[in-house]
Amino acid sequence: MSNCKGKLIIISGPGGVGKNTVVNAYINSHSNCCFSISFTSREQRSTEKEGKEYHFVTKEDFEKKIKDGEFLEYTIFMNNYYGTPKTNIMEKLDDETDAFLILDIKGAMNVKKMYPDAILIFLLPPNLDILKMRLQRREKDLNTQVMNRLKKTSNELKEVAKYNYAIVNDELEKTIVEIEKIMIANDCLCAKNK
Ligand code: 5GP
Repeated sequence: MSNCKGKLIIISGPGGVGKNTVVNAYINSHSNCCFSISFTSREQRSTEKEGKEYHFVTKEDFEKKIKDGEFLEYTIFMNNYYGTPKTNIMEKLDDETDAFLILDIKGAMNVKKMYPDAILIFLLPPNLDILKMRLQRREKDLNTQVMNRLKKTSNELKEVAKYNYAIVNDELEKTIVEIEKIMIANDCLCAKNK
């Protein structure tokens, strides 16, 4: 990884904080960057498109992919599988393309072990009431699911210190600028601080 020319950026944060929106907006407004689309066995939301946020597969198909060694890493989050395909991340990085991964905390720590130069960014909600509102807006997120995700959020927030950077995702444009600054700061880091 240290010889790679592109950056590997890992984005984590509680459900509803806007990880996909932020990554998509960044990629659409910057050249030479890409998003690794994960596979999941979670039910597709009405707002999601196959191959945009995720590749949606059955639990059985996901387990077959695990057996076939198709994942760089995978996790079980709230009873659903999520996994990063091994495919061409390294090729993209070698090709001077920055690659974004959206991972839960466990996945982020695993990938950081494999790629120590990876930049870990945690997205925070402006406050928990706003997060609850965003979660409730998701058609498929039933009340119990919203409550479970909020419970998980308080545990996740304790892990922020493991990340290189934390950004409060209040306004999309501001968050994008913060990521741009992180990218510049990272270019200026002395190797020993990476
Ligand atoms: P959601 O159901 O809200 O889309 O995602 C649930 C959690 O799974 C989020 O924390 C998200 O970052 C994480 N996640 C999504 N894709 C992957 C993946 O490929 N690997 C890991 N480890 N976590 C993922």
